[in-house]
Amino acid sequence: MIGFVVEAECMFYQDKPIHFECTACGKCCTGNAETHYIALTPTEAAKLRKHLEVSEAWFRRRYVEHLTRDSWGIRMHNGQCAFLDKHGRCGIYALRPTQCRTYPFWPELMDDEAHWQAEKKYCEGINRGQVVDIKVIERKLKQQAAAEEHA
Ligand code: SF4
Ligand code: SF4
Repeated sequence: MIGFVVEAECMFYQDKPIHFECTACGKCCTGNAETHYIALTPTEAAKLRKHLEVSEAWFRRRYVEHLTRDSWGIRMHNGQCAFLDKHGRCGIYALRPTQCRTYPFWPELMDDEAHWQAEKKYCEGINRGQVVDIKVIERKLKQQAAAEEHA
């Protein structure tokens, strides 16, 4: 992942403006539990559990699940993230995981313009609004790559 960022000079987003504006539609917080997950790094998980003031056992039972043997993700309940509130807002906004902070500027979406454009069907903010500063895009790419390494 870090190699991808270093080689980013020839990436499509460096040659053409990328427009994005989040509409707060909440769609990226929803999905089928079999196909969607919200990864947490161990540090993010620890901060979240502390914030929720619940035991480790209760945190695991109620809020998170294993993604792999050693990594965790937020549970999906009835097709949505366990922290999406009834108003469609994030209930842990200040502590939302890197995956949520960096979307849709993920390595697997920014590696090819076709991937970025295809993501429009999941995110209506793509191609809307102002041009995003390339430094912002690259910072989010690095943050996401680092989170994936530590997940
Ligand atoms: S799907 Fe896109 S526009 Fe909707 S809340 Fe998520 S990032 Fe924002
Ligand atoms: S943690 Fe917040 S931003 Fe991330 S998927 Fe859940 S509700 Fe959405």
